[in-house]
Amino acid sequence: MQGDAYLKCIDPHCGLEYPIKSTNVECEKGHLLDVKYKNKPSDSLKETFYQRRNSQGNIFNESGVWRFRELLNFCQIDTENIEECSKYLVSLDGAEGRQSKPYHMSKAAEFIGISNDKLWLQPEGYNPSGSFKDNGMASAVTHAKMVGAKKIVCASTGNTSASAGMFAANEGICCDVYIPSGQIAPGKLSQAYQFGAQIIEVDGNFDDALKQSLDDAKNHSGYTVNSVNPFRIEGQKTIPYRALEYLKWKSPDWIVYPGGALGNTSSCGKALMELHQWGWIKKIPRIAVINSEGASTLSDLYNGKFEGEELRWNKGNTNTELITRYYNHLDKEGIRPKTKATAIQIGRPANILKGLRALEFTNGVATTVSDSEMLDGMSVVGLNGFDCEMASGASVVGIKKLINEEIIKKDDVVVGILTGRQKDAMLPVEYHSNPKNKFAIPPKN
Ligand SMILES: [Zn+2]
Repeated sequence: MQGDAYLKCIDPHCGLEYPIKSTNVECEKGHLLDVKYKNKPSDSLKETFYQRRNSQGNIFNESGVWRFRELLNFCQIDTENIEECSKYLVSLDGAEGRQSKPYHMSKAAEFIGISNDKLWLQPEGYNPSGSFKDNGMASAVTHAKMVGAKKIVCASTGNTSASAGMFAANEGICCDVYIPSGQIAPGKLSQAYQFGAQIIEVDGNFDDALKQSLDDAKNHSGYTVNSVNPFRIEGQKTIPYRALEYLKWKSPDWIVYPGGALGNTSSCGKALMELHQWGWIKKIPRIAVINSEGASTLSDLYNGKFEGEELRWNKGNTNTELITRYYNHLDKEGIRPKTKATAIQIGRPANILKGLRALEFTNGVATTVSDSEMLDGMSVVGLNGFDCEMASGASVVGIKKLINEEIIKKDDVVVGILTGRQKDAMLPVEYHSNPKNKFAIPPKN
């Protein structure tokens, strides 16, 4: 196994490679990196993964991430040797991804207008820190441990800091969280405080906070755990793995995600590219990314709403100048991302190029939904007995919108990812107090 894994620049015209222990999040020309594997995992592992669902007390089998450890074996360890796993792999006692699998939710299906047996919704909010981030954090902190990092660093407005703080506390390492000063409600960072993370306020917006966190990581030997870290993407591949496994590795027609920094889109795309290349799946599911109307960078650029050009990966020949001009336009007009769904309130998605690559590979689509639609989506999930945050509602109403537009066909099999659990206690209270809302059940006296 030694020498199997390495890092490679995603730009096919550059393709610079780095050893697996490198902590660079980009190549020296500033392009994002992929974790690559030389070996092709045998699809007989499907049976191994299934058997591990009976964990027999092994936390790495219990873990919804490490159950698939052969498919993200960047530590290049003997994955059957539990002692070796314990030495390398970082886990919240097997809890990351453990409760995540796709469910049928009949009230959501009825609202969307799709038959119940065609719709699967996969809640990632039941992860220990309350969001999908624990999937990728398990793998990123494993790499941090592999390179001997003493401190992990992130910029975050909520979910990332909660997950990073929890893993850091478990591993006994430090965690610095950079936030734009005065812009984040302190309650959003409550988990980060609880887990003992050091909050650092930065003058400026989220992009400035991210930039400073990356600089500090570089200059003060911190280890970056934002989704620009390619090892985050590796753990997040297990989200589609779990969905596919529950569908007996028979590809659905669609996998639908809310779109923020596009780490999920990127990881789903990478997972599907690898599975297809290894011959594990024949059919490639299409990815749909649902932006908020108030933070619609991908949808605007992908659908040609800026300067009329439909931005594409184009086999690595992306018109990056169009992206730059779009960002300059946002700055010039003073347009800031604005949505109550803070988890996807992102104007400059750090993984946009990997996201475009994923959409090209899967013949994907991008669209937008409004805040009030997302609240309906969130609320109908609740009526099925599942809890999710507002951004996750985007998956539900995004599917509804794409069915109404006949982009998703009524007999397509659709998997929607519900990315996180409710963090804002007042959102459902406000929603249900207003009888005009579609699913409101106002209090009686
Ligand atoms: Zn490069």
